[in-house]
Amino acid sequence: MNGEWPADKLMRGTALARRVLEGARAKVEKVRAATGVAPVLATVLVGDDPASAAYVRMKRKRCDDVGMKSLVIDMPQGTTTEQIVGEIEILAADDAVCGILVQHPVPAPIDRRAAFEAIPLAKDVDGVSSAAMGRVVLGMPAYVPCTPAGIVRLLDEYAVVLDGAHAAVLGRSPILGRPMASMLINRHATVTLCHSRTRNLAEIVAGSDVLIAAVGRPRFVQGGWIKPGAIVIDAGYNEGNVGDVDFDAAIERASLITPVPGGVGPMTIATLIDHAADAAIAQLDIS
Ligand code: NAP
Repeated sequence: MNGEWPADKLMRGTALARRVLEGARAKVEKVRAATGVAPVLATVLVGDDPASAAYVRMKRKRCDDVGMKSLVIDMPQGTTTEQIVGEIEILAADDAVCGILVQHPVPAPIDRRAAFEAIPLAKDVDGVSSAAMGRVVLGMPAYVPCTPAGIVRLLDEYAVVLDGAHAAVLGRSPILGRPMASMLINRHATVTLCHSRTRNLAEIVAGSDVLIAAVGRPRFVQGGWIKPGAIVIDAGYNEGNVGDVDFDAAIERASLITPVPGGVGPMTIATLIDHAADAAIAQLDIS
């Protein structure tokens, strides 16, 4: 991104995220006023992956910003599934803890799914359990995985009409593509969910009013694929701060597009903190 593109085409995640965090701060304040203590967002971190450690530090900083306490359970490389599930069960039973995260990827041989399933729905603020996913698919209230939830907030902020729109979601991961497709369907978009076996990807993108790119491949989506006037959401975050969309070419055709960085990324973390604040209020029944 060279910074010289038409400003009115940019979907500014950083600015909206700031407002979401201000809202979360007010909710945290409400909890503190009612209980005398700040709610706690707990993260279980296994092993010594530097990228995971950096994400955890970033989440801790955002917790600090809104007055929420952040508790990090550091577990060594070699931790077993039983050990991580045991830790999550302790956090699940702790009334001070409003939300539980398992920083992923978790190192092998931990069964990540078993760890996610140990998080009770009320504390599953990143929507990783099958119960949360089921509710998202059915359009029932749940903490939706934070990246697609943040993307929907961004689409709403820019008044993007989803009803009847053709949307393509590139990527079918449980944290991103799948819940994203469900949320768009629930908002009455017609959705094509694409993945690595999809044959006519460029053609599908060319027919889409809304494109969500979540494949994890730098500049994978070519500008020439984009339907003129389309809304382009780039959830990708690859080495060198590069998204999944060839931004410089795509902005020529898109009517709105998220920059990388400064688009989806800040919305993900702000949404997470906001979910944790909502969970704290819901658990205390003080709304
Ligand atoms: P993931 O679990 O690796 O899933 C990638 C998906 O892309 C898979 O469904 C895969 O298809 C599909 N894919 C891979 N190559 C493809 C190709 N050539 N054509 C079509 N589809 C292809 O990744 P993820 O966790 O969903 O993350 C996706 C991207 O979002 C990454 O860049 C990640 O860093 C980023 N991300 C950003 C945030 C944020 O806050 N900004 C949060 C989470 C993730 P198969 O299922 O067939 O393998």
